[in-house]
Amino acid sequence: MTKNFIGRPALTGNLESVQRPFLISGPCSAESREQVLETAARLAQSGVHLLRAGIWKPRTRPNGFEGRGVEALDWLVEARQTHGMPVATEVANAQHVEACLKKGIDVLWVGARTTVSPFAVQEIADALRGTQVPVMVKNPMHADLPLWMGAIERMQHAVNAPVWAIHRGFSKYGQQEYRNAPMWEIAIALQMAMPELRIICDPSHIAGRTDLIPFVAQKAMDLGMHGLMIESHCNPAQALSDATQQVTPQEFSDLIRQLTIRDTKTGAAHAENLDALRLRMDSIDEQVIELLHARMSLAREIGRYKSEHGMTILQMGRWKEVFDTRGAWAAAAGLGSEFIATYLEQVHKESIRVQNEEMTQKKSSN
Ligand code: PEP
Ligand code: MN
Repeated sequence: MTKNFIGRPALTGNLESVQRPFLISGPCSAESREQVLETAARLAQSGVHLLRAGIWKPRTRPNGFEGRGVEALDWLVEARQTHGMPVATEVANAQHVEACLKKGIDVLWVGARTTVSPFAVQEIADALRGTQVPVMVKNPMHADLPLWMGAIERMQHAVNAPVWAIHRGFSKYGQQEYRNAPMWEIAIALQMAMPELRIICDPSHIAGRTDLIPFVAQKAMDLGMHGLMIESHCNPAQALSDATQQVTPQEFSDLIRQLTIRDTKTGAAHAENLDALRLRMDSIDEQVIELLHARMSLAREIGRYKSEHGMTILQMGRWKEVFDTRGAWAAAAGLGSEFIATYLEQVHKESIRVQNEEMTQKKSSN
């Protein structure tokens, strides 16, 4: 018997034996006993393997809802007893781990804000040392693969249980289509570096809005990821955290039913096939387009500035500098000079068109 489980066998075997997709769902935060129990009751009928709920919520700004704390652990335990579903929550420090071990929480996860800090990750690993509690490690907020791998390794060295990864996307400055950029190529690189590792995708935190979740979830399945963590709430509009990205248990179950699950070889083998290469290319094109959009927004701002200060759009000195520096960067990266010259000319042309539009608008509004 292990130190973490109170009166029930370790989940270790079960967790590993579940066929893909392994399904994790539940509210972003445990808000009340009734909410946790009602969500669990409804999810139990949707084939969910693991019930999730945040107890301690890492909030970006003070005064947000910070979770119900230790008392909410009892609600999770009650949900498990009533519905037979193992339960999971996020831990960010040793006290959280101790509280979860005491209550026999089945699975713990390390959140994206914690994975960025090797001190915090090591503290959690030390608190878990020698236990048989499975741990899931979310990717760090920023796109740093070695940091993600380091956190996974710290957990693998500490626990005698499975350690999985959760891909929840990467934070980016400014407004984007996704709340967190998926950058699928990083999850694929992780799978290639650690072929035995199981990776769960968290479409809720990638998408940030419910209409994008099915698309992200399908893409994760097409990439051969092992499962999905999707936030659900009986009344999403009233949720105390992440209200825009939570689906109802019914929507969760519809979404899962509509997924196409293709058979995978091992993750690494799959990552090498043509589909996976194309998905990596899609992801890169998506980022290139986002960056071009950001560049054109800046061009628009520059157009406004020039217009307000009576400057000309075309300034040959600046254009020559752009052309020369980018040309040199491209050459250093091994890109063809003709290709990059054509690209820069097109970008410049579009930038002038956008600035022109700003000036004309300004004139007509005068
Ligand atoms: C969460 O799962 O509710 C959460 C806070 O996630 P992340 O660490 O990915 O932001
Ligand atoms: Mn959340």
